[in-house]
Amino acid sequence: KKFKPGSVFFRLDRNKPGMLLPRKGNATTPIEVQRKQLPIYQAKPQLLNQLRQLPNVILIGETGSGKTTQIPQYLYEAGIGRQGMVAITQPRRVAAISLAGRVAEEKRTQLGKLVGYTVRFEDVTSSETKLKFMTDGMLLREAIGDPLLLRYTVVVLDEAHERTVHTDVLFGVVKAAQRKRRELHKIPLKVIVMSATMDVDLFSEYFNKSPVLYLEGRQHPIQIYYTKHPQSDYLQAALVSVFQIHQEAPPSHDILVFMTGQEEIEALARTCRDIAKHLPDGCSPMVVIPLYASLPPAQQLRVFQLAPKGCRKVILSTNIAETSLTISGIKYVIDTGMVKAKRFNPDSGLEVLAVQRISKAQAWQRSGRAGREDSGSCYRLYTEAEFDSLIPMTVPEIQRCNLASVMLQLMALGIPDVMNFDFMSKPSPEAVHSAVEHLELLGAVERKEGQVFLTALGKKMASFPLEPRYAKTILLSPDYSCSEEILCIVSLLSVDTVLFNPPARREEVLAARKKFSSSEGDHMTLLSIYRAFKKVSGNKEWCRENFVNSRNMGLVKDVQAQLKEICLKMNLKMESCGADTEDVRRCLAHGMFVNAAELQPDGSYLALDTHQPVAIHPSSVLFQAKPAYVVFNELLHTSRCYMRDLCLVDADWLLDAAPEYFGRKLHLTRS
Ligand code: ADP
Ligand code: MG
Repeated sequence: KKFKPGSVFFRLDRNKPGMLLPRKGNATTPIEVQRKQLPIYQAKPQLLNQLRQLPNVILIGETGSGKTTQIPQYLYEAGIGRQGMVAITQPRRVAAISLAGRVAEEKRTQLGKLVGYTVRFEDVTSSETKLKFMTDGMLLREAIGDPLLLRYTVVVLDEAHERTVHTDVLFGVVKAAQRKRRELHKIPLKVIVMSATMDVDLFSEYFNKSPVLYLEGRQHPIQIYYTKHPQSDYLQAALVSVFQIHQEAPPSHDILVFMTGQEEIEALARTCRDIAKHLPDGCSPMVVIPLYASLPPAQQLRVFQLAPKGCRKVILSTNIAETSLTISGIKYVIDTGMVKAKRFNPDSGLEVLAVQRISKAQAWQRSGRAGREDSGSCYRLYTEAEFDSLIPMTVPEIQRCNLASVMLQLMALGIPDVMNFDFMSKPSPEAVHSAVEHLELLGAVERKEGQVFLTALGKKMASFPLEPRYAKTILLSPDYSCSEEILCIVSLLSVDTVLFNPPARREEVLAARKKFSSSEGDHMTLLSIYRAFKKVSGNKEWCRENFVNSRNMGLVKDVQAQLKEICLKMNLKMESCGADTEDVRRCLAHGMFVNAAELQPDGSYLALDTHQPVAIHPSSVLFQAKPAYVVFNELLHTSRCYMRDLCLVDADWLLDAAPEYFGRKLHLTRS
């Protein structure tokens, strides 16, 4: 490892009494003792010394050393930045919620008082809140109303190595706010950038050559295993590995498996539970715990609970357990080498969620999870040659996503010249161009004399914490007298899935869904499920029978209320179209026309704007029906490129929505 000259290096003494790492069973250790056992505790006085003096700090420390949970508390206890709040940003909402909960517990206060959190559509803070955990996206939204971030005296940009598009934009926003506050003689803003590992030179350079503080990790040796041959089915390989370890290792050694998403995690969890039931005598029992972003918080906390004695804990997780959450007791890591992430083609303007290979940096982070408390093993379900071919670092999201949403926000922040924004890594000119084109199509921006301006519509669109096309659809809805329905649909699409789809009970699910299934598509189906849910006032029994996630449905109501508030502020007319939902579809066609697809004579589909072949996802109610034209919400790339959440539309509506665009580009003609 190379360290920058002038950087501060806290060497932690492994043999110091009281510094023994918490072993299994630490859940019974009093929480104050747990805090003192964290590696960061040793460095507290020197750390505070530095944090007090420096306006910018970069803090690097092994995952689990206590950065996220302790630094905010240290600042508070030392009275640093007491005049305002401390914001701690997280790329993921689960992490923000769970860490705020943990810190509130450590401070023995109720969540929402001294310690709170703000994520999209959920604000658990009060006037007492001093330590505020939030998603990076939320802080960015706040910056639109308050570009100097005057409420905050310290901003902690956590998990900086993840380089989400929001964090990247925040780097620039925070840096500018800091400079302007200095010029205006306002209360200074302290910026702390924290991460496990990252390219410190790039960060230090960007933040005015700020010093780097290293917390030396206490990594135990980890044995790395590769497969002999490339695996064609990483899920199968993971399953085999889990049971091989299970049969050979003592039950107190827990297993963490890195996978890509909810569906495959739930499927593997079920298979593991089934197999575990039928193991030979003498084999210890197993608890299988899924961990992914859309899991209800109560279930997320299960990963932190100890397994009963003599029972093995197997955690199946997305990359959320890579660096944001630390789980104790892990001795074995199984790394599928895969992650689900956004991928963007600026030529086609198409953004897809795709399962793809991780970077080397991610692979090292994953294996590191095995050696936190003792020596461990990591099973990489790929060959060493495959490992060598991985890219060194994950490409920042800003260089691989559709920038339309971010550009709209930047322009609302009063930063018109996006190409000259102080990005740590600039997006490609093609991607910026394609985003401007997208926003232009939606009517959010217009070009005048080579400059791009936000239109009145664009300003309104930026007020919604939504993708531009959803915001546009809402703004259009009064013209179709269906704002109530559109708000409801957008809310349904904004929370994590409201439906359960356990594959093992596929027949039952299909039968239950049939009652609500609409030939007009998934949006209408969701709408009728929501209406039925409201009719029975969210009855738990009804939810179970109909495979409806009652918690997420409850959230839909909150989201809807919040969106409605924004609409009312703009004096939008709130109306319902009742049973006649054709206007809802018309409205969706007008708002979502960039995501339209056309049936081809051979039964396949083409995305209309990019001419890319796409298919209807099997979960869609339109899977069999195959209508001539649809608009869809998103593309998911697995074995093929699937459209998810579809709505049946008329070609005429698309033409009306963007006559020139469709006429010129696609030669779509009226029926
Ligand atoms: P870092 O940010 O350096 O990765 P954290 O501050 O997130 O470290 O974690 C410090 C410790 O707090 C870890 O040992 C972790 O297991 C523990 N911890 C965090 N959240 C919870 C929770 N909800 N329940 C129990 N332990 C937790
Ligand atoms: Mg952390």
